[in-house]
Amino acid sequence: MRPFSYSALPVRTVFGTGSRERLPEELRSLGLRRVLLIASARQLEAQPDLSELLAGHLAGSYTAAAMHTPLEVTEDAHRQLQALEADALVAIGGGSAIGLGKALALRSDLPLLALPTTYSGSEMTPILGERAGGVKTTRRDPRALPRVVLYDPQLTVSLPVALSVASGINALAHAVEALYAFDGNPVTSLLAEEAVRALGRGLPQVASAPGDLTAREAALYGAWLAGTALASVSMALQHKLAHVLGGSFDLPHAETHAALLPHTAAYNAPEAPEAMQRVAAALGALEEAPQALFALNVRLNAPRSLRELGMPRDGIGRAADLALQTPYPNPRPLEREALLELLERAWAGDPPRSPGK
Ligand code: NAD
Repeated sequence: MRPFSYSALPVRTVFGTGSRERLPEELRSLGLRRVLLIASARQLEAQPDLSELLAGHLAGSYTAAAMHTPLEVTEDAHRQLQALEADALVAIGGGSAIGLGKALALRSDLPLLALPTTYSGSEMTPILGERAGGVKTTRRDPRALPRVVLYDPQLTVSLPVALSVASGINALAHAVEALYAFDGNPVTSLLAEEAVRALGRGLPQVASAPGDLTAREAALYGAWLAGTALASVSMALQHKLAHVLGGSFDLPHAETHAALLPHTAAYNAPEAPEAMQRVAAALGALEEAPQALFALNVRLNAPRSLRELGMPRDGIGRAADLALQTPYPNPRPLEREALLELLERAWAGDPPRSPGK
């Protein structure tokens, strides 16, 4: 067996339908009294009991979180936080609300509690992506990690099918990268494999019956596992490209992950045969993992091309250059020509093929 190290991260997780109702109790058990609530206005309208749950605890709310955690939004929210006497942060929403919660936790040292409403998995990781001056950078800091995460599948029922599917594939991307991460270990691989199984089963059910709580539960369970696996390993090509395209071309995060995933899997497949076998087996696929991931995108009607997401074709060269700027570990070495081929295929929505092979 390959030598490994593994550090479990100290997030308390409560999973199950109705778990949002535990929020006041969780605050009490941490001795917290006054929270800044980070949530979109739409979220609070869709789930009016969330505000009721915080009655008596609310110091203020911030509803302007945005995708890719733009620095100017964080600074605005931080100014508002400083004017409040809050002792905790509560983020209810997708990766954008949770990302802002993490950015504020880092700046204020306040504890963060998260109630995820998408499958981004961000709540389980100490990773924070931030966009400033058209560039998205990521860092890891244990202080960004939520103290408590309440996973309530009911909070995800209102997530439209198209967003659910894209977000679920974002989680799948965490799991695929965890399976071939150079610093992976038996625990993260088990988590990731089970995540692929749960998402591969749950997402088609969510797509056909978005109100079905059992389907929502399976997808959210997969997202939790995928986020937990990602939290303990290094990200590689898939996440690097998604961050470059999100940060520099303003492409939507989850949808970009969906369009890229079969192609980055094909790029890495020759150097990561065991990971690919585990992905294919967990999806119950007869074909190779990249083709199975592409077929899943087709079945779920998920975004398959960067073109449909607004990526300009003449940006491909710049995207490849940005992805090559800072070296990072990836199963297959990064070569400009091969990356260009990958991006061309992903841009056009062609089926995946291992570039240059
Ligand atoms: P998001 O949070 O921006 O949500 C997408 C849209 O869905 C928004 O309009 C939001 O209001 C809406 N929405 C969310 N939940 C809803 C619900 N239940 N019902 C109806 N509408 C709902 O998107 P996301 O994909 O969850 O998050 C993307 C962000 O998260 C990016 O900034 C990305 O970098 C970050 N992220 C970070 C990590 C990490 O580990 N650090 C992991 C994944 C994503």
